[in-house]
Amino acid sequence: MRKTGFTYHEIYLWHDTGNAAGTFAAGLQVQPGEHYEHPETKRRFRNLLEVSGILAKLVQINPKEATFEQLQLFHTKGYIEKIRKMSNLSGGDAGEGAPFGKGSFEIASLATGGVIQLAKAVWNSEINNGYALVRPPGHHAESDRGRGFCIFGNIAVAAKSLHHECGVKRIAIVDWDVHHGNGTQEAFYDNPNVLTISIHQDGLFPSDSGFIGERGIKSGLGSNLNIPLPPGSGNGAYVSAFKEVVCPALEKFEPDFIFVASGYDSSVNDPLGRMMVTSSGYRNMASMMIEAADNCCNGKLVVVHEGGYSIPYVPYCGLAVIEELVNIRTEIFDPNLSKRDEIPGQEIQPHQAEIIKKAVEGIDFIPN
Ligand code: ZN
Repeated sequence: MRKTGFTYHEIYLWHDTGNAAGTFAAGLQVQPGEHYEHPETKRRFRNLLEVSGILAKLVQINPKEATFEQLQLFHTKGYIEKIRKMSNLSGGDAGEGAPFGKGSFEIASLATGGVIQLAKAVWNSEINNGYALVRPPGHHAESDRGRGFCIFGNIAVAAKSLHHECGVKRIAIVDWDVHHGNGTQEAFYDNPNVLTISIHQDGLFPSDSGFIGERGIKSGLGSNLNIPLPPGSGNGAYVSAFKEVVCPALEKFEPDFIFVASGYDSSVNDPLGRMMVTSSGYRNMASMMIEAADNCCNGKLVVVHEGGYSIPYVPYCGLAVIEELVNIRTEIFDPNLSKRDEIPGQEIQPHQAEIIKKAVEGIDFIPN
């Protein structure tokens, strides 16, 4: 059994995304409803951890708000000040599709700070690895605007904080959320010491980024890899992408620390993505990341919660990831598994293999 840290706070669930219906703003033609990014997926995930018994085995790492200086490692001063001011009034939109209510500046800072605390505890070997169940998510947030439900770049800021405050040199960030990790990509696009890899549904969000040819600029050329898979990709395509691209890339780059941006919207039941990954796919990917971390950086791995909008299904995918991190199996079984693991198309298809083959070429460009 490994010593796995866990960062969570009830206030994360109090971040208010308003009364949109899905992502449609409520109004005279749209009945008010629930925004896709609402607390229930996260609350049920944490509750399943408790019921499974695994929560009691995790080491609680208490979050602390990221400081203004820490947020500024990635975000512009003007943007941080704007969010603070809006949050003190009644909230608004942080940029493009990132609604928030009163107090979300403090909640988003606590999400980012939670990832920083957890990453430092792993770096200092207080724990072996960790999971940050934080909210709002972070991977779409850019330096000067929020996007796609994200306000601050939780992993981007934490990785920069590891560089600046702990002297960690080489960091890899692997993003399996169904959407492109555009914010994380932006944060390190010219940085040869941070390898960013995003595996996502081609052209979903943002539609103008995430292409296979985006490999970084200047001295960072080669340190960004995108694997834009076609809709309908399942466990077979994802596992193959990890075996053929992600794992060899990590092996070549030899990071001192690995972050995973863990979105569960690549799941077969997600309302926003069109992929078919099941909890066994997530389990496989997590296990490969743990093995990669064992091989290159003494197991130093932090998994950070991003998207995932299927209220009944996110908890089972998340539990599978945490079971792998801790290295135990609870008695909880994914009620969906046998049905969804066996549907046609779970195995890799030729048009999916073609994209993975193209992505493999990017490994040659990785600086070492
Ligand atoms: Zn997503």
